[in-house]
Amino acid sequence: MADEIIKESEEVSGSEEVKSKNFIEQIIDKDLEEGKYTKIVTRFPPEPNGYLHIGHAKSILLNYGLAVEYGGQFNLRFDDTNPTKEKEEFVDSIIEDVKWLGADFRGEVLFASNYFDQMYEAAVKLIKKGKAYVDELSAEEIREYRGTLTEPGKNSPYRDRTIEENLALFEAMKNGEFADGSKVLRAKIDMASPNINMRDPVIYRIARMTHHNTGDKWCIYPMYDFAHPIEDAIEGVTHSICTLEFEDHRPLYDWVVTELEYPHPPKQIEFSKLYLTNVVTGKRYIKKLVEDGIVDGWDDPRLVSLAALRRRGFTPSSLKTFMELAGVSKSQGSCDYAMLEYCIREDLKPVVPRLMGVLNPIKLVIDNYPEGQTEEFDIENNPDSEDAGTRKVTFSRELYVEADDFMEEPPKKYFRLFPGNEVRLKGAYFVKCTSCEKDADGNVTLIHATYDPETRSGSGFEGRKVKGTIHWVNAADCLTAEVRLYENIIDEEKGKLNEDGTLNLNPNSLVVLKDAKLEACLKDAKPGDSFQFIRNGYFCVDSKDSKDGEPVFNRIVGLKSSYKPA
Ligand code: ATP
Ligand code: MG
Repeated sequence: MADEIIKESEEVSGSEEVKSKNFIEQIIDKDLEEGKYTKIVTRFPPEPNGYLHIGHAKSILLNYGLAVEYGGQFNLRFDDTNPTKEKEEFVDSIIEDVKWLGADFRGEVLFASNYFDQMYEAAVKLIKKGKAYVDELSAEEIREYRGTLTEPGKNSPYRDRTIEENLALFEAMKNGEFADGSKVLRAKIDMASPNINMRDPVIYRIARMTHHNTGDKWCIYPMYDFAHPIEDAIEGVTHSICTLEFEDHRPLYDWVVTELEYPHPPKQIEFSKLYLTNVVTGKRYIKKLVEDGIVDGWDDPRLVSLAALRRRGFTPSSLKTFMELAGVSKSQGSCDYAMLEYCIREDLKPVVPRLMGVLNPIKLVIDNYPEGQTEEFDIENNPDSEDAGTRKVTFSRELYVEADDFMEEPPKKYFRLFPGNEVRLKGAYFVKCTSCEKDADGNVTLIHATYDPETRSGSGFEGRKVKGTIHWVNAADCLTAEVRLYENIIDEEKGKLNEDGTLNLNPNSLVVLKDAKLEACLKDAKPGDSFQFIRNGYFCVDSKDSKDGEPVFNRIVGLKSSYKPA
């Protein structure tokens, strides 16, 4: 029997390495084995108070991935119990982002605010059990009574009201009979608990605020620690996965689901947040950069909000690979931004066209090429993909090449253009540099060269070899476009924060090139299309600033990698 089982698992895994399970999968396996749950339900519970960022993508892909792995269900639920900070705009952007990541929530968008009635009933249930009371201490007094990490708290004088009195007062709170902040409902747990979260936490407050979903129906709102476990329980969530800062709240989570006697109570599991080097992940900091006008909105391609990553040209599958490499654990640490870059490069390499784009152009005139003549070359679209085919690229007497592919007085081992040196123009001819022209300030303005007709690409010429190959575009028909190059928004070498707590911003995080010369076919590039410009990196057509026939290109990532996969 044992042999048979081993054989079966070998067949399933084949020759592939068996992936070891993370600690959350191990917990789920055990719960299933013990028959605690029959179907796994996970959720992503964003607060609609900002745009999602790469950290949220980790949570989404983790929760969704577990639902898929165990044949269960994944819910998208807005944790909209705090109307002050929430906005409808954020709801729409979050839905778009979750869809973009491919996390299937069956088109059912859930809202915690739809459970306000059930939460109210849950509070009444606690009161009836003698497990909650209406308190009249002020916020400041509540804080004083709570004690400290080393000293126990003390009981509120209102703690021992009768159940009837509490029921009547709580109902009156709901009916708007008291001023904002004048009373709260507290769970009756233990003012001497070593865990401060268990010292009779406030579970309902009075606040006259218009809610984006329920309008003015309620003037009392549940607190997060009370609402969240109820939301999970109502939806049949089995594993409520959150980040480490909630670890100390877990006893309260358990207390709520136990006291409310849910038959299959959900279980909270914490993992460590994703942080990335050289970028800003926290919602609070991103918001500040946006509000201070340092970046061009929440989707500025230097940010790691999901809207920004999408605009920059990152793909959902590259993020998925990245999250797999990053893994899931309880230990805190930052992931190297270079690892994210590695993932997008690997993702795009086999699929996007490889074209020629000259970022800092200088004109190259081939003096012995007939004036007015144009010819076409067939150039491979992607040497890594057999199906990608070829495209026609025009060639004539005047071309653009990269300014730094020419040096009048080159150092040793410089194999590109300099007077007397011959290079290969990618996919076309060998050209020999003859001279250059300069302006009054001594800047090179034009390069002269001659070509050798015998070296035509595809002709099988083997007469001699050259050491350098450079890219070029035909001056007559190329597209002049804006190209944006990015560096990390923060230079972590100098520390993420300045002494005064402000972010240590990299002044070179955005370089705008207004005069890049690109292959003619790029005139038809559409927002979101991605390409490799050979020798220059991967680029994506900006979805915000491009116009018909006038694409703007964002560099997603350069070609060189400082990250080596294990
Ligand atoms: P931020 O810390 O950026 O303000 P948040 O935690 O306030 O984010 P929520 O909308 O409350 O944002 O979070 C929704 C879910 O995403 C929560 O389960 C939260 O734990 C998770 N989450 C937030 N940030 C990260 C992160 N950096 N890594 C992994 N999960 C995260
Ligand atoms: Mg939050």
